[in-house]
Amino acid sequence: MSTHTSEMDQDRKKQMRDAEELLFTGPQKCGLAKGLFLGRFASDWVMPYPTTSPEEQAQLDSSLAALRAFLDEHLDPAAIDRDADIPRHVIDGLARLGVFGMTAPREVGGRGFSQMAYCKVLGEIGSRCASTGIFVNVQHSIGMRALLLFGTPEQKSRWLPPLISGEKLAAFALTEPEAGSDAANVQTRAEPSADGSHFILNGEKRYITSGSIAQVLTVMARTPTPGGGSAVTAFLVTPDLPGFVVTEPRMQKLGVRGTATARLAFRDMPVPRENILGAPGKGLKLALHVLDFGRVTFGASCTGAAKTCLRLAVEHANRRRQFGKTLGDFELIKKKIARMAAGAYALEAMTTVTASLIDRGLEDYMLETAMLKVFSTEALWLLVNDAFQVLGGAAYFTDRPLERMLRDARINQIGEGANEVLTSFIALVGMRGPGQQFQEMMESLSRPWGELRKMWLIGLDRVGAAMLAPDVPVRSPQLEPFAGRLGELVRRFNVEVDRALIQHREAILDRQYVQERIARAAMELFASACVLSRWDAELQSPPTDGLDPGWHSAAEYFLRGSLRRVRRSLAEMNDADDSFATATADWALRNGGDLR
Ligand SMILES: Cc1cc2nc3c(=O)[nH]c(=O)nc-3n(C[C@H](O)[C@H](O)[C@H](O)COP(=O)(O)OP(=O)(O)OC[C@H]3O[C@@H](n4cnc5c(N)ncnc54)[C@H](O)[C@@H]3O)c2cc1C
Repeated sequence: MSTHTSEMDQDRKKQMRDAEELLFTGPQKCGLAKGLFLGRFASDWVMPYPTTSPEEQAQLDSSLAALRAFLDEHLDPAAIDRDADIPRHVIDGLARLGVFGMTAPREVGGRGFSQMAYCKVLGEIGSRCASTGIFVNVQHSIGMRALLLFGTPEQKSRWLPPLISGEKLAAFALTEPEAGSDAANVQTRAEPSADGSHFILNGEKRYITSGSIAQVLTVMARTPTPGGGSAVTAFLVTPDLPGFVVTEPRMQKLGVRGTATARLAFRDMPVPRENILGAPGKGLKLALHVLDFGRVTFGASCTGAAKTCLRLAVEHANRRRQFGKTLGDFELIKKKIARMAAGAYALEAMTTVTASLIDRGLEDYMLETAMLKVFSTEALWLLVNDAFQVLGGAAYFTDRPLERMLRDARINQIGEGANEVLTSFIALVGMRGPGQQFQEMMESLSRPWGELRKMWLIGLDRVGAAMLAPDVPVRSPQLEPFAGRLGELVRRFNVEVDRALIQHREAILDRQYVQERIARAAMELFASACVLSRWDAELQSPPTDGLDPGWHSAAEYFLRGSLRRVRRSLAEMNDADDSFATATADWALRNGGDLR
C-alpha cells in the first residue's frame, strides 16, 4: 500500500470515528426514519396523526389570535426588506407575546408549549415575513437552545430569563471562513489562561445572524485536549468582553434582508471558564443537537410561506383574464396550483409529525429533522417558482410580495446544513443501521461456532425485511390501497439499501449519486407516511375548523406523485448516466469551465 493511500485510509478512519462520536449512541427505540432503512414501518411514531391536547390547543388558539392581531397591525415585511432591519417595536411585541420563550420551561419564564404548538406560531410568522421567521428561529431555536439543553442550573437562571423576555438577543456562531459545511474545521482557538480562570479566544466568525445585535452568543472554539490535540467547545460570549469586534454588522445580501448577518472577530478575548456550555470538547455534538431544533423550524416557516404562495397564486388566477378566460381555467395553471396545494398540505403534515417526535421523547430524531429540512426547503423553492409563474410579469415587480419571497426562499437550502451535505447525511446515517447488521454478520461468519445464533437472527431479520412488506395501519378502508403501496415500497427501498451496501461496501461513503437516490426515496417515503396519516385522521374525524374537504384531493395528489417519485429513485439506483456526469464535470473542472 502506498504512503498516500495509507494516509487517506487513516484520514477516513478518523473522519468515521469523529462522525460516530457525533451520532446519538444511547439506547434507542426504532424511529420512523431509521425503521424505513431497515424495511420496518414504525407506525407508532406517525399514526395516529399527532394532535395537541385540548388544553394546549385552547392556549395555542388564543396565542395565535393575539399574534395575528399584532402582526396585522405592526409587521410590515416590505418595509423590513427595504430598510434591511426588523424594527425594535416588532421585536418587543413578539417578546411580549411570549414568542421567544414558547417552548422554554415555565420555571425560567417560558411558556412550556410543545414543539408542535411552536411550529404553528412559526408557520404564522413565516407565512408573512421570512426575515422575522429567521430572526425568531435564531433567538428561540438555536440562540438559546444550547443553554436549555446543556446549561447548568446556574447558567440557565442567569442567562435564559432576559433572552426569553427579549431584553437580550441571542446568536449562534459556528461558521468561519474555513468552517462552513465542514463544521468540524473550526479554527477559532480558545487557550486556557495561566491561572485557569479564563479562556483566551482568537479567531473569526462570519455569516452570523443577529451577530452584531445579540447580547448573548453561543460561540464554538477549539480548546486543547490532554493528549496534545484539540476539540471544539461551546462558550457563552457577550459583546462587552474586551477583544470582541464586529467587523461587519450587516453584510449586504440577496434575501432575508431584515436579519443582521454579521462578521465577527475575537482578539485575545478573555471568556470566563464558567461560560463553557456543556462538556469541554463536546461543542460539535452540542451544535448538532441545537441545529436539529432549528431544522424543525425550517419546516414550519416553509409551510407558512407555501400557504402564502398558494393564496397569492389563487387570488391572481381567479382574477386575471386572458384569452377570454380566467387563468385558473387553463390546465397548465391548474397543475401549478394543484402542486402548491399538495405541497403545502404535505409540508404541514411532515412538520407536525417531526415536531411531535421531539414532544413524545424520541431520543434521536436527527434523520427526520434533516429530511424535513431538505424536503421542505426544496419544495418551497419550487412552489415559489410556480406561484411566480402564475403571476407572470406582475410577480417581478417590487410592489408585490413574490419577488421578495423568491429572494428570501433561497437561503433555506444553504443555511443550517446545506442540502447536499444533509442529503448525504440522510443516506449514510440511515444506512448505518443495516450496515452495522451486515458488519456483525460478517464478523460472526469469521467465528462460525461462537456466533451462530446471532448470525441466524440477523439473517432472519434481513431476509424477513426483504420478503415481507411491513404493515401500514390506516383506519379508513378507502386508504388501504395507499397503505399497501407504501408498505410495499418500504420493502423495496430496504432491498435497494441492502443491495447498495453489498455492492459498494465502504466505498458507499463516496458514492454521492447513489446516496442522493437513497435519500430522495427515504424523504418521499417519510413524506407519504405523514400525508397518509394526516389524511386518515381527517377522514376519521373531519376538522371542525371548516377545513375544506377538498384538501383530500391535495392529499391524494401528493401521495400519488410521491410514491411515483420513490419508484423512480429506486429504479434509477444504478443509473448509467452517473459516469457521464463525472466525466463531464471533471472535464469542465480541468479546463476551467471554458466551453470554447
Ligand atoms: C444569510 C445567512 C445566515 C447565516 N446564519 C448563520 C448563523 O446564524 N450562524 C452560523 O454559524 N452560520 C450561519 N450561516 C452560515 C451557513 O450555515 C453556511 O453558509 C452553511 O453551513 C454553508 O457553508 P458555506 O457557506 O461555507 O458553504 P460551503 O461549505 O463552502 O459549501 C458550498 C456548497 O458546496 C456544497 N458542499 C459542501 N460540502 C459538500 C460535500 N461534502 N458534498 C457535497 N456538497 C458539498 C454545499 O452543499 C454548498 O452547496 C448563515 C449563512 C447565511 C448565508
